[in-house]
Amino acid sequence: MPNCIFCAIVNDHRQAKILYEDTDYLAFEDLHPQAPAHFLVIPKRHIETILDADKETLGNLIHIGVRVARKMGLDKNGFRTVINCKRHAGQSVDHLHVHVMGGRWFSWPPG
Ligand code: AMP
Repeated sequence: MPNCIFCAIVNDHRQAKILYEDTDYLAFEDLHPQAPAHFLVIPKRHIETILDADKETLGNLIHIGVRVARKMGLDKNGFRTVINCKRHAGQSVDHLHVHVMGGRWFSWPPG
């Protein structure tokens, strides 16, 4: 998708620190980390929001997030996964992504 920053990363891996890749998915470090560990998992295909994704894609995104989190040692103390959907939730990049954050305490409820 033209003008999509995550599609640009899919097409040019030098634009992010890649943590995981397979034929359909990519995980990379968030540019503005909100925790000591903060990465994103995306489908390579441009899908705008969680509303547009099928069951298999959603399962794979979460599964990859857990695998990478475990590899980073985040399974010891835990981590948070977040999917923002549209404006009220704060989605700023319209290419579906799962946030995985760890390495600190997180409060609840979220603001
Ligand atoms: P959201 O607000 O849920 O749409 O999250 C978008 C996330 O993408 C934010 O946490 C940004 O810091 C992150 N982000 C934006 N541009 C880049 C980029 N070029 N590389 C890595 N992460 C990015």
